[in-house]
Amino acid sequence: MLVERIGNTPLVRLERISRGAVPAGVEVWAKLESFNPGGSVKDRAAWAILRDAEARGVTNKRLLDSSSGNTGIAYGMICAARGHRLTLCLPKNANLERKKILRAYGVALVETDPLEGSDGAIRAARAMVEAEPETYHYLDQYSNDENWRAHLATTAPEILRDTAGRVTHWVAGLGTTGTFVGTSRGLKAINPAIRCISVQPSGPFHGLEGLKHLPSALVPRIYDATLVDENLEAPTEAAYALMRRLALEEGILVGPSSGAALWGALNVASRLSSGVVVTLFPDSGERYLSEAHLWP
Ligand code: PMP
Repeated sequence: MLVERIGNTPLVRLERISRGAVPAGVEVWAKLESFNPGGSVKDRAAWAILRDAEARGVTNKRLLDSSSGNTGIAYGMICAARGHRLTLCLPKNANLERKKILRAYGVALVETDPLEGSDGAIRAARAMVEAEPETYHYLDQYSNDENWRAHLATTAPEILRDTAGRVTHWVAGLGTTGTFVGTSRGLKAINPAIRCISVQPSGPFHGLEGLKHLPSALVPRIYDATLVDENLEAPTEAAYALMRRLALEEGILVGPSSGAALWGALNVASRLSSGVVVTLFPDSGERYLSEAHLWP
């Protein structure tokens, strides 16, 4: 079954890009989430959320959520494979690749005001389920505990296994915050000394698809600030520059939020004398090829 192939993504060491940038005793590793069948980290949360909806017997209704793209694609893939109907609210300016993939999976799209970003899509989904509660079941990835639990159950144990328990620092971007919250909880439960560092965009108008600037956004209910040992703010251009360098110097083609994650990981690693810094690259650069400003 397709869903059985979600998770167990490769963890690779970034030796070339960290050379010179971090002390010799510090290792930087990244988990490549584009290896999931739906092409992003969101397969993990989407499958946990949909499995729970199936168990609760609500999949006879039309499933509804908002997403800036990757969660919608993950839902779309799984709903197609399992025969569920899905409506997705997403900002009108979501890129061409995302909309084409969603349509290919048969997802019904409701396009929302681009100026309101992902918060506009959230508000539209809330209004739809309020108006027609008999028609829709709202999956609500921003409030659904299955989102972070997916990472507690899979991402954290994979990192512990693949570093043989050597991980000292965990760095991840914040979107719905599921990746950071669930993985941090899982890592700290096994080793409370592991430091968990969150990465956000440095301002409200950023180009880091999938990430949220929490001070100016609807804060997801699942967010837990007590897990944050340090929070870093990634400048958009610095994240883009590292995204391009990952392709050129490591042969790893990823999206802008991966550049932000690496910016955070290198920032942390450069201040250590020894340690194993692990981050996660949420998706592939192939999902952004139509965005000319991102690439040389
Ligand atoms: N990067 C990208 C490209 C994403 O699609 C997402 C999901 N919104 C994230 C980062 C953040 O992941 P999470 O929702 O688990 O915080």
